[in-house]
Amino acid sequence: MSEQDSEPVLDVDFFRRWLTTAAASMEREADHLTQLDSAIGDADHGSNLQRGFRAVTGALEKEPPATPGATLVLAGRQLISTVGGASGPLYGTLLRRTGKALGDSAEVTPAQLAEALGAGVAAVAQLGGAKAGDKTMIDALEPAVAALATSFAAASAAAEEGAVATVPLQARKGRASYLGERSIGHQDPGATSSALLIAALAATAGE
Ligand code: ADP
Ligand code: MG
Repeated sequence: MSEQDSEPVLDVDFFRRWLTTAAASMEREADHLTQLDSAIGDADHGSNLQRGFRAVTGALEKEPPATPGATLVLAGRQLISTVGGASGPLYGTLLRRTGKALGDSAEVTPAQLAEALGAGVAAVAQLGGAKAGDKTMIDALEPAVAALATSFAAASAAAEEGAVATVPLQARKGRASYLGERSIGHQDPGATSSALLIAALAATAGE
């Protein structure tokens, strides 16, 4: 904690706790996420993320990284290698790119994290080709990044709102898009898990 500055600084322990909290959320919500994916996908989103985040917590215990950036890069790498499907590379890219944007700093400010997460979300949009309104994880992540300028709690609320707002949308990317109009009326699983990831961030920050 800097003495001159009242803004909190986020250290490697904060990032480790964020990911551990997210992993616990994925365990708790796995059945729900899989249920959402059974309506408009192939019923594996919960088990995909459960497997991926177990690998993340395992890797963080086995070889604890020294910096926030390295923590996210390691987590992203684990998700890419264990999750598969569409969401593995997308979530992996999100965390890896965010981690790379944080560089080698031992501590980062919330403003630096907001900027880095913005780069991570942009990389997800580029990889998956999804825009806001396509009924994907982008619909939770983009509003969350915008609201991070206000607070972690605002980001969490914006992500949750974005996830709920996918219900009336028709999917234009991913497996759900194969359903055409039949994808309308269901909440997107990836937007829902993204809201869990941002809620875990707010919880870690004590908001
Ligand atoms: P799969 O679709 O391969 O079974 P998952 O079920 O784990 O993978 O994840 C599905 C979620 O991935 C969707 O709910 C959506 O949010 C997200 N997704 C799929 N394709 C894209 C894409 N092109 N861009 C962004 N997100 C996507
Ligand atoms: Mg699926």
